[in-house]
Amino acid sequence: MTVPAVALTPRSDHGLGAGASAGALLELAARPDFHRWEAQLAATGHCARPVRLQGRIDAIDKATGQARPIYDTDTEPGAVLRIPCGNRREHACPACSHVYKNDARQIIRSGLTGGKGIPESVATHPCVFATLTAPGFGPVHTTRTDRRGHKLPCRPRRDASQRRCPHGRDISCSRTHPDDDPRLGQTLCPDCYDYTGHVLFNACGPDLWRRFVIYLPRQLARLVGITQKTLRGQVKVRFVKVAEYQARGVVHYHAIIRLDAPGQDYQPPPARYTAALLADAIRAAAAAVFLDTTAHLTRLNLKAAGTDDTAAVPVVGANLARILRFGNQVDVRTVRAGIGLPGTGSELSAQAVANYIAKYATKTISAPGLPDRPVYGPNAIAALRCTTHYKRLISLCWELSKHPAAAQLGLNRWTHMLGYRGHFLTKSQCYSTTFTRLRNDRITYRRIQRHPNGEKDPWGRDLDERTVLLMAAWRYAGTGHVTTAERQLALAAAARAREHDRIAKEEIWMN
Ligand SMILES: [Zn+2]
Ligand SMILES: [Zn+2]
Ligand SMILES: [Zn+2]
Repeated sequence: MTVPAVALTPRSDHGLGAGASAGALLELAARPDFHRWEAQLAATGHCARPVRLQGRIDAIDKATGQARPIYDTDTEPGAVLRIPCGNRREHACPACSHVYKNDARQIIRSGLTGGKGIPESVATHPCVFATLTAPGFGPVHTTRTDRRGHKLPCRPRRDASQRRCPHGRDISCSRTHPDDDPRLGQTLCPDCYDYTGHVLFNACGPDLWRRFVIYLPRQLARLVGITQKTLRGQVKVRFVKVAEYQARGVVHYHAIIRLDAPGQDYQPPPARYTAALLADAIRAAAAAVFLDTTAHLTRLNLKAAGTDDTAAVPVVGANLARILRFGNQVDVRTVRAGIGLPGTGSELSAQAVANYIAKYATKTISAPGLPDRPVYGPNAIAALRCTTHYKRLISLCWELSKHPAAAQLGLNRWTHMLGYRGHFLTKSQCYSTTFTRLRNDRITYRRIQRHPNGEKDPWGRDLDERTVLLMAAWRYAGTGHVTTAERQLALAAAARAREHDRIAKEEIWMN
């Protein structure tokens, strides 16, 4: 029995508690069921906090009514089955977050270049990469670049009269901030900053995006000069989008938007639908779309109260009334011009876009410097070690959750997200494959590996659910590894597996 060397020199950089002694690790490795434990661990993808289940699966012969056990956790190490926690946050579980990251990358990439059940011809469809930002809520330290990508000073103001805000603060900044400058995203005058608008933008951003998706075909139809109904018969807009926090703590969106023919077979749209046309429609839709928070909050309150009577729900006061829009910096870049159109040479590479957007799909699961769980109440907020700007946003989320008119946003649960309640990766139907499908493919793959000659029932026949009934009974038995030694071996094995994966990928890249 060998203990991996890396496991005997436990690294504590995972922040998961004190290290186990070498003795404890050796003891674990000497256990008779160590190999089975290792195999279970590998089957969870080396999850750092697996869910432990107890239970059994019985097979019942439908013809005879005879029951026999197929599987029982009593035969497993610790009498439990371990299944992956599925947590997407890297510091909560490096292994599961790695699996999620890979799946996100596959989903994004297969919609660009095909694969995973998507035809490769999808790579010829018109496609753009769009970034929709949030509007300004007040002056913050920022990085700006000119057209050639050279960095510009933050907020230079030559005229002394423009340097002071109504609160008497200097709102100019002549610095050129480096990318890691902690000042980035901080306000120049907190009293000038519209914190409520900011939190409402984060909270209602997913609704604003939904409206944008509805407006987009309308704008396409308008540009082509046809009705929406005719448009629906010719083309379908498909997308995948990720949300990213900007330094100021507001969410913006990156999206890959593609045009297909209607239907689920990934056919190209008619040639008149080009990426240039799509880009114009995106700019027009992003400029036109808005969300009136008064109407939106009233709708949420009516729905929650189960009434149509606006007199029966809280009035949305002027303090919460905003017209939310996207910022005017809408960036649309061509990934592919369209069927039969020559490239201009300035197209983005599909691979680069997939990697870029996949990075955000996973990186932005928590905002920088923020806790990964909701922060409840003023005392907990005061104790946070983050910037005053973030603290103000978190406090406001907390206060708004107590505000009768805004309570339906449930912001007390999203304080740590600065009010953002959406998913970080969403896609339209038929953009490409799904997380569920990728997961099921993995399960099938593992099953085939475990039973190369096919699964057998307890009577030695090929398992066929038409002849036997499978009865499963499971009970939750806890979360996480039971001992420090187990946890450390799991983390070390996970790190090795990821390293292996990374090297394999690099080899593919080099070939
Ligand atoms: Zn996990
Ligand atoms: Zn500055
Ligand atoms: Zn001010």
